[in-house]
Amino acid sequence: MSFALALIEGANGPCAVLELSDELYALADLVPEASVNGPDLVPLFENWGTMLGAIEGALARGDLPSPISSTQGASFLAPLQRPANVICAGSNYYDHLLKDFGIADFDKAANDILYFTKQVGSIVGPGKTVRYPSQSEAFDWEIELVVVIGKVGRRIPLDEAMSHVAGYTIGLDLTARDLQFNKRQRRQFDLFGGKGFDDSAPIGPRIVPAKFISPDELSLRLRVNDETKQDSHTGEMIWNVAELIADVSQHITLRPGDLLFTGSPAGVGHASGTYLKVGDRIDAEISGLGELSVEIVKDPDAARVWNRQLLLAAELAKANP
Ligand code: MN
Repeated sequence: MSFALALIEGANGPCAVLELSDELYALADLVPEASVNGPDLVPLFENWGTMLGAIEGALARGDLPSPISSTQGASFLAPLQRPANVICAGSNYYDHLLKDFGIADFDKAANDILYFTKQVGSIVGPGKTVRYPSQSEAFDWEIELVVVIGKVGRRIPLDEAMSHVAGYTIGLDLTARDLQFNKRQRRQFDLFGGKGFDDSAPIGPRIVPAKFISPDELSLRLRVNDETKQDSHTGEMIWNVAELIADVSQHITLRPGDLLFTGSPAGVGHASGTYLKVGDRIDAEISGLGELSVEIVKDPDAARVWNRQLLLAAELAKANP
């Protein structure tokens, strides 16, 4: 029977739980050896093979403790709070290239994979968690399947790649399009400004172990204020999960608890010039993984945002008195 792992807001702070049939069990009650100290599931994945065996052993014995909550009654947090690496693949769906960019003849063999990273402060969980990035006026959504790494590896062979996957969760690669395609950058392309900012990587609500998920066979759907914006399938991926793991591990050592965002399908707001605003709600759903919902809240530091045009004018005035 399928189960998942999550981090919820407990009576005494964050609590690691196992989710089974809409009930949540404290991991420390169920499998003391798999309990994690502190508000993060990252340690669980540092010894994932043993932990998974211990969890499955406890479930097979059938002596479940009392659940501490139902799924519906719980407040879910980002399951991983401080992953060592948050790596993202860009431009990885054929339908995104075709429908959002008009590219019909993308040649996989002639292209290398585009990656970028997000910073640890980009991670947030479900709820009213996303501060509007006031440095941007073109804030956009992207639903993505996110891989959780469960085994260390460097230059991982393609046929071993899937053994490095611990599980999957839902992610949003929130993007400031005006900074991603910033005309004030020499190359007019900036993935740090465009995608690396605070709260730009909501994840959750749960991590489903890899054995229960076929990553090539998932449907993805994203709604903004109940209006469907993205509705696609992971079969549209250009480079699949195994290929991404094998390829990205040519660049860096993948570590347990690392997150790999796998790209977003068609239907981003930028294609139609539609963007997010304060108060908007995003519901992101992937089959087998549930639904991640976040709300955009006002940036508490909005009054202190830099006005680049004014700064530029001041700089020019100084340079050309
Ligand atoms: Mn993306």
